[in-house]
Amino acid sequence: MLIGGKWVDPASAEWFESMNPFTAKPWALVPRGSKADVDQAIAAAKCAFLGEWRKLTATARGALLHKFGDLVAAEAQRLAEIESTDNGKLIAEMRGQLNYIPQWFYYYGGLADKIEGRVIPIDKPGVFNFTREEPLGVVAAITPWNSPLLLATWKLAPALAAGNTVVWKPSEFSSVSAFAFGELFEKAGFPPGVVNIITGFGNEVGEPLITHQDVAKVAFTGGDKTGEHVYGLAARGIKHVTLELGGKSANIVFDDADLDQAVKGVVSGIFAATGQTCIAGSRALIHRSIHAEFVERLLDLAKTARMGNPLDASTQVGPVTTRPQYEKILDYIRIAKEEGAVCRLGGAPAQREECGSGWFVEPTIFTGVNPEMRIANEEVFGPVLSVIPFDDEDEAVRIANNTVYGLAAGVWTQSIRRALLMSERLEAGTVWVNTYRAVSYMSPFGGYKRSGIGRESGIDAIRDYLQTKSVWIDIAGNAPNPFVMR
Ligand code: NAD
Repeated sequence: MLIGGKWVDPASAEWFESMNPFTAKPWALVPRGSKADVDQAIAAAKCAFLGEWRKLTATARGALLHKFGDLVAAEAQRLAEIESTDNGKLIAEMRGQLNYIPQWFYYYGGLADKIEGRVIPIDKPGVFNFTREEPLGVVAAITPWNSPLLLATWKLAPALAAGNTVVWKPSEFSSVSAFAFGELFEKAGFPPGVVNIITGFGNEVGEPLITHQDVAKVAFTGGDKTGEHVYGLAARGIKHVTLELGGKSANIVFDDADLDQAVKGVVSGIFAATGQTCIAGSRALIHRSIHAEFVERLLDLAKTARMGNPLDASTQVGPVTTRPQYEKILDYIRIAKEEGAVCRLGGAPAQREECGSGWFVEPTIFTGVNPEMRIANEEVFGPVLSVIPFDDEDEAVRIANNTVYGLAAGVWTQSIRRALLMSERLEAGTVWVNTYRAVSYMSPFGGYKRSGIGRESGIDAIRDYLQTKSVWIDIAGNAPNPFVMR
């Protein structure tokens, strides 16, 4: 693990296996961190925050982020291979993602020296008042297994640009790429302790991190139940918190949509990344007049999905990342069947030769889904689509919003009126019209309702890593009455 610029063994002297989901066999050993390591990492982060890191100008901080982005770009292929092996994400997607990740470091690196306070034209004579935007201190970044480096980047880039230091805990299911990232922070020349990495389990590493008195902010991405728990722990210490949680996003297809595009959009929304994305369009809401035709086209396209080794560039659907997740997906398929949903595709573990011994679930499509069913309400986090018909805009909005989540939504229509109206009425942090699953370092991302608090990416995200100080300077030199407020 990386603590204060040194690679150290865990205090517990224990390691655990990281599994390759394609082979279902261990391929790496990961240090099992504990409170003792967390305490050291936070001490190192605090020391860096008060020392070396603070001494750097914002421009110099930005230059380091830029250098880091260059190193990630140079190592993109290697990082992509590690990530594909450790978590089963497609190499085809990971190459693109790793080539794109540097943009976050360039963007926030550029922003580092544009964080400005304001001079307030204060209403009191003889006083000069201005604000400073200051970093929070030590940030605990806790990330899930589904997109390890991208989701860490969304936290690390703005946190560091704002002048904070970080202790990062990756998911116990996909920690290996974090070590490769850590090496690049060192290579870029970040002072020791600015970025620390502690691997291990949620209760053993995550909780001591969140509850440590020297952690000023918790930046968490994960499931909503864990998020709720994390929020509660952080509340006890009155810490800043951002939460990026789960979703049950609706992909809504109207009868005036370009159906070729819409079919591809719905398939990409649920089967890309094996459905293991927070933004998965796991509910397809289809206008009743095109429902039958659309389902046939959906089945035709979904059936062509090539499953297999994620390291093969032609694979389209890879394995499920973890064994518990694999079992959870199969459980939900069973529940959907018991609830009376009609399984039109898949609905079982994949038995294909090219899937080897990995944790594969067939792309699965349910029709006859009633919005009240569990399969229509709970996050499956796998390649399982619920198709629900609707009759008009009002009904589409009602069904789409009838969920505790509010991460994203897709709308397929040729009508600009409908696109604007739907984008206004949908309770979701992101609405895509005639596209799906697009993200950028420039555009804010985050959830409404139970999908989270705060935003990542875009200019505003850096505000979540800053606090405002108001400075008052008397320039009149006449001491006021000490017994009344000035
Ligand atoms: P998870 O909530 O199980 O774990 C996330 C992280 O929290 C892991 O690092 C885990 O070790 C840690 N953790 C677990 N228990 C903890 C505790 N008691 N205290 C502190 N930390 C703890 O989530 P997961 O299964 O790794 O990831 C999948 C979930 O993440 C899905 O619900 C998905 O929707 C969500 N997600 C959200 C976004 C987003 O940006 N909104 C992005 C990706 C994934």
